Amino acid sequence: MARQEYNLITETFYSRKPERGIAEKNRKLLVENFQTILKNSEKILNDEEMFFSQIGCTYTGNSLAGLFMLPLGIMLELWREEVFTHICEKCKSKIHIFNTSGSLLSGTVFWTGYCFNCGEERSKKECNGKILGIPMKKTREYPNKRVYKRYALESSAWFDKLNERRRENKIVQNWIEGLPFEDLISKISA
Ligand SMILES: [Zn+2]
Repeated sequence: MARQEYNLITETFYSRKPERGIAEKNRKLLVENFQTILKNSEKILNDEEMFFSQIGCTYTGNSLAGLFMLPLGIMLELWREEVFTHICEKCKSKIHIFNTSGSLLSGTVFWTGYCFNCGEERSKKECNGKILGIPMKKTREYPNKRVYKRYALESSAWFDKLNERRRENKIVQNWIEGLPFEDLISKISA
């Protein structure tokens, strides 16, 4: 009697870290096209390929879980919900935070962002549970994963196992390949 045995294997695509050159180039694109991006928020949030577009300089992390790249869709939500915003000490207008890294033990978080009014980069180290916790929660709310069904062998005797035909893993759910950030900018600027 054949047993239907399988395990579900998932691969997540949040912790990919792009090459440094790409992150720098995209950061410049992000700053230059920020207003256009905000204006197209709805369009980006409703399009999976745009939602999962990776910028490279937008990420969150902590000492325990490591670094997670945050796609544009999640960034838009974090800016909109005022999680990734701060008041500029120099001009009192809004800073948009691009990335954070923190320590779960001490609760301190270091963030860097940009004040579009001053046209300057801003960063700060502070105790802020909201900035530390919510971005991680978002990555679980919007998982981008490939899920496999991996079958176990049906035979019980070792010599039968040797002869058993290996079945391929079945893809249950495929992950969404985000639009390259550069392409996204051309698309919304057109
Ligand atoms: Zn400012």
